[in-house]
Amino acid sequence: MKQGTLYVVATPIGNLGDISRRAIEILQKVELIAAEDTRHSKSLLMQYSIDTPMQACHEHNEQQLAPALIEKLLSGQDIALISDAGTPLMSDPGYRLVRAAQDAGIAVSPVPGACAAIAALSVSGLPTDRFLFVGFPPHKQSARQRFYEQLQRHAETLVFYESSHRIQDSLDDMCSVFGELREVVMARELTKTFETVRRSTLPELCDWVKSDHNQQKGEFVILLQGAQLQQDAQEVDLEQVLKPLLEELSVKQASHLAAKITGQKKNRVYKIALEMSDK
Ligand code: SAM
Repeated sequence: MKQGTLYVVATPIGNLGDISRRAIEILQKVELIAAEDTRHSKSLLMQYSIDTPMQACHEHNEQQLAPALIEKLLSGQDIALISDAGTPLMSDPGYRLVRAAQDAGIAVSPVPGACAAIAALSVSGLPTDRFLFVGFPPHKQSARQRFYEQLQRHAETLVFYESSHRIQDSLDDMCSVFGELREVVMARELTKTFETVRRSTLPELCDWVKSDHNQQKGEFVILLQGAQLQQDAQEVDLEQVLKPLLEELSVKQASHLAAKITGQKKNRVYKIALEMSDK
């Protein structure tokens, strides 16, 4: 018996026109649409006169639901997986289902389209030849700062997702961890009425968002210039200062002196000294 196919279908990230003709055809012809939120997707499906039955498939039931969906696929039914917006699995559910389908020998086929990270990169004005997509930063400040610190030395453009609840705090933490020199791009409400794309230095963007409440609303992609030798001179200097000190002194003594010499924060210098002494 012929098996079905699991189609992973991208839907719009705002403007409902951003859906491919093939996506509409697939959503019309499959036996079932597994949707992150069936109520949310209803308006998109109505807009394109798609009356295919839907089943909720979200973070909390995906694992449990997978075997039943695999059964249907094995029995020859085609299924389309969609999320609330953009490309499923991009900071969205679907990973477990895709793996389970592949493991069962079922064809998994992409129907590509909108993705906020890629749309933002394409208009950012930052290098796109190498980028690192890291999704949502942690919600708690200490974990978020640690998360940023771990990304400090990456030379690739960094791509983050952020929500309106945390945008200001998140930008403030970026400022304190990444310093004043890097360029950052805020891509807000892409493809929607209040679409905003702004490139500036980190402190300037922080101040601008702080001073205009409207800029704190909606959905955000934040893109940060990767570490650059000339621009991250502070970083390079710190390592240069720490290296000989660590050869002669304990981490504590070396970081104490290095903080004095470079004028950088003691905690930060200590952390970097610890990392260097572990290598
Ligand atoms: N799967 C989606 C994709 O392909 O981009 C992303 C889903 S993730 C749960 C939602 C996050 O994506 C939002 O919090 C925001 O960071 C980003 N996002 C989605 N739509 C956006 C838009 N129109 N403009 C800016 N960012 C957007």
